[in-house]
Parts: sequence; C-alpha cells; structure tokens
Amino acid sequence: MRRATSSCSQGDAALPIAAAMWPQRAAANGSMVGGRWVGGGGIKVLHGRLALAPAQYIGPMSWFWFTNIARRIPSRCAVCHAWPSQAVCEACVNRFAQPCTRCRTCALPLPPGQVQCGACIRTLPPWDDALTAVAYDYPWSQLVVDFKFRQEPGWARSMALLMRSAPWVEPALDAADLLVPMPLSRQRLRERGFNQALLLARALSAHKTHPRLLMRIKDTPAQSSLPRSARLANVQHAFATDPLRHAELEDRRVVLVDDVMTTGASLGAAARSLRRAGAAHITTLVFARAEPGN
Ligand SMILES: [Zn+2]
Ligand SMILES: [Zn+2]
Repeated sequence: MRRATSSCSQGDAALPIAAAMWPQRAAANGSMVGGRWVGGGGIKVLHGRLALAPAQYIGPMSWFWFTNIARRIPSRCAVCHAWPSQAVCEACVNRFAQPCTRCRTCALPLPPGQVQCGACIRTLPPWDDALTAVAYDYPWSQLVVDFKFRQEPGWARSMALLMRSAPWVEPALDAADLLVPMPLSRQRLRERGFNQALLLARALSAHKTHPRLLMRIKDTPAQSSLPRSARLANVQHAFATDPLRHAELEDRRVVLVDDVMTTGASLGAAARSLRRAGAAHITTLVFARAEPGN
C-alpha cells in the first residue's frame, strides 16, 4: 500500500532527507541538487549564482557540453547563499523539503495516517494518483519563478532531482510507459522560449518523454491571472490528443508532468484528454503543489 507522503515546506522539523534519500541519486548523477547549469548563451552571474544566459532551447549536444562544464563550476545556494554550493544546498533541502502526508489523489497535505482527503473521496479527480516534490511555498515558489519567468531553464535538472527524491515518484516513473509534459500554446512557447514541463519530463526520463501526444489547441489566458472559479472554464477544450497516435496511449500508464499544480484545472483537462484517448492509468507529477489560500 502506498504511503501518501511528499515534501512539505516546513523549516523547523528538519530531518536528514537529503542524506537519507539522495546519496544514490547523487552518485548516479554526479551531484546533489543543482550544480548543473545548462542553457543557451554564455556563463554569467545571475541572481548570485553562476548561470548561462540568455536562456534558449537546449539541444542534446549543448546540454551535454554545458552539464559537463557546469559540474566543475562552484555555485551559490539560491536559498541561503552559501558559497560554494549546489544550486540548492543540502542544508536547505533538509530544511525546506521535508516529506509530509499528502492525499494520494490531489497531493494536498493530510494529517498523518490518512491517505485521501474528503474532497477527493466525494469527487475523484480525473487522474489516478497525484505526486509532488514540495509545497508551492518559500523558497520553492521563487525557484519556479526563476525557472519559468526569468528564463533560467537550467533549474530543470535540480527540480527533477528533487521530484525523483520525493516519496513514490521513483516507482511511478519506473512503472510508467510514457511521460507526457503539459503542452504550452504556441504563443506562450514563443514568449518563453521553452516549455518548462518538457524540460522537467526530459530531466526525469528522457527516453519515456513524448511531447507531441498531447497538444494545446486553445490559447487561454494564464491560469494564474484568473480567480479559482474561472480556471475550469478557461481550460475546457484547451487540450487534445492526435487521433493518429491514440494507439500509443491505449492501455498505457502515463505520468503527466508539470511544474506547479494550483487548482488542478489544467491538469484535469489534460488528463481527461489522455483518458479519452485510452490511457489506462494517469499519475500527475508536479514539482510544487499550491495549497488553498496560497
Ligand atoms: Zn542553502
Ligand atoms: Zn485529495
């Protein structure tokens, strides 16, 4: 039976999560969180850290080159500014990424011992499981802003490492046939230059990532600009799957990847599209889960 826990952003009850959960990952990847700055353009100091700018789409060769160069460059912790450090130091991960009990279908925090919240028992979400690495709170909310809006795609690898280290993520990725990143509209992609969900999915499992199975067919206002009540209507009919590729989704286990889940309206609309195309099991996996009121 799964244990419905994932990280909560709590500073005081620090346990050695990184030491306990990350050594094997760190060894496999050559570093702990971060320390791997990738991107387009040259190396510069950005927000107190070494970064590569301007942010561009990262091709496989440049990704390889930058990761190998960047591994050798000391950096500063983005949270406590310890220097030299990984992009987020082990002490900050210990302090701010502690696991807590979470609802297995919406990833909101629950009292210990519970597995599902009352809202999900009354109305099941359109996916089967929901997982998050951290709460959308300090310091992770700022990291997401840096990642997405300040054009720092190099954060994807650090965030993916935190996601992989969260309870139940590794088994979900192993069991998945496909990772499907939440698509951006063409206009949003042009503005941003990259799809943050695609970068996360590729950093989690490049060979399972399929970015063209799910499409965004309607350009909608950013969900963050809308009140909660309007978000559902905003994303209705915003997603579609390619009918010619339904065979690739039929009876498959899919992990739907995004950076943040707020109300879950966008992920819900995307999950319904995947379900209509025949997906057998859908896990939503995000870096950060916003809690009501945040
Ligand atoms: Zn730190
Ligand atoms: Zn729930």
